[in-house]
Amino acid sequence: MAKINWLKPLFFLTAFIVFSTLIGWYFHIDKHQRIRIYLAQNITKLQSEFRATKHTYDKLSGFFHDELSRDSIFLNILAKTIEDPRYQEALYRYLSPKFSILKRYSINYLSIYTPSGKIVLNMHKPTKKEKRLKPALFSKPKINELLMEYKKPLYYQGVLLAFLQTAISYNVLKEELRRLFKGYYEYIVKSSLIGKSIFSYGNHLFVQSDLNPNYFYEENAIGHNANMKEELIHALNLSIKEKIAKQLQKGTSFAIVTKMNGKYYTITFLAIKNKSTIGYLISYKQDPTIATFDAIFWQNLILGNILLAITLLFIYYVLETKNKFEKMAVTDKLTGLYNRYKFYQMANQELARAKRHNRPLSLILLDIDQFKKVNDSYGHDIGDYVLKRIAKLLKNNLRKYDLIFRWGGEEFLVLAPETDAKGAMRLAEKIRKLIASQNFERAGSVTVSLGITELAPQDKEIDALIKRADTALYVSKKEGRNRATLSL
Ligand code: GH3
Ligand code: MG
Ligand code: MG
Repeated sequence: MAKINWLKPLFFLTAFIVFSTLIGWYFHIDKHQRIRIYLAQNITKLQSEFRATKHTYDKLSGFFHDELSRDSIFLNILAKTIEDPRYQEALYRYLSPKFSILKRYSINYLSIYTPSGKIVLNMHKPTKKEKRLKPALFSKPKINELLMEYKKPLYYQGVLLAFLQTAISYNVLKEELRRLFKGYYEYIVKSSLIGKSIFSYGNHLFVQSDLNPNYFYEENAIGHNANMKEELIHALNLSIKEKIAKQLQKGTSFAIVTKMNGKYYTITFLAIKNKSTIGYLISYKQDPTIATFDAIFWQNLILGNILLAITLLFIYYVLETKNKFEKMAVTDKLTGLYNRYKFYQMANQELARAKRHNRPLSLILLDIDQFKKVNDSYGHDIGDYVLKRIAKLLKNNLRKYDLIFRWGGEEFLVLAPETDAKGAMRLAEKIRKLIASQNFERAGSVTVSLGITELAPQDKEIDALIKRADTALYVSKKEGRNRATLSL
């Protein structure tokens, strides 16, 4: 049974595993790079949405400011109020209908203060009348850090009279974003800010965010307008809570991907700054794009591995073919023995080695007796059979390091390293007797004649040995065949 050489397939299998791992690693990195770029784009997108929405409020506030700047009645009452606080009531009454319109557009904050920073009027405190009318209580002109403000100067007869300040809360902005972009938006604010300004936020209910204990969100007073369920948002928040804790602390914008019930969600955090980060605008999005990145990864991986397998199989095939042709070039087709070409390759090596180490080397030339008759009597096929049988006999009965070649038609050659003339003669006799004792089926018994020689100091080339062995063989033939002759 032919022995299978497992070494080569094993080598190729190992190569496949190594390269396949590298390919997988590369595509894995590639996928994460894609996701990173995509998430960065999400931040930019959210920023644009935020700016666009804020812009509409800035325009509204600008329009309102323009109107007041040209309203001489208003400017007149304002000028009087600054000089005499008793006019506050009149100012409030004059602004009330206008403020009602502003509130319809969710601009719920309006105050006027002097260039020195004293509050003239707080329109957004209608329930606490005394406070509104007692500027001393509100010495700070700031409406609040929790709001998006719009400040503009008011001039009367060329003199800076006061500043007009309008603002909307981020909660309003969030609702507007939900309406405009049909997504789920949330705004969370740092708890430290709420602590500071809770006083002026009596009407607003802030709830601790399930994302982080240091952030609060404003409970909606306006009613919901979102297409994502609160429970889902809650579950998403809990799933990313740990991962984002550090980033929230850093106060920079970031985006994150999370998987829930087999669906991917991108959650984008836009840092809202007022000198430092005061809060985050968050966008939640169920996102099939990430699943596409996954699909691309698997496609690449499968395709990469198929190409790798094809390449390796091709290399394997080329090497095997090369090997086969190399073997064919040195092998005799009929007997499977080495041919004359291979003999010269090996014999020269053996000759050099024997000479270098001063070791014996012998050569036996073998010729089948009266082989022509075998062919003539029983046909060429039987002749071939005899040749194959003799080749097999030689292969099975010689030592491992004896080299056997098919020299020509019915001639064989044995190169015996580490063997002197005496040993070679014994070997030749053994071969002769072995062949003579065989029954070659229809061809009956077959004999061989042998010529033996040993490497001599004067031998420069292997051909010298061949020549002597040939002479010896000729003697064997001449002396009646089926014998071995030594020539030194
Ligand atoms: P001798 O005892 O003097 O060696 O006689 P011989 O007939 O063996 O010598 P000769 O050299 O005249 O004949 C050799 C024959 O071997 C001639 C050729 O037809 C035959 N022969 C050579 N190669 C092959 C082969 O591959 N297959 C077969 N069937 N015959 C071959
Ligand atoms: Mg011959
Ligand atoms: Mg012959």
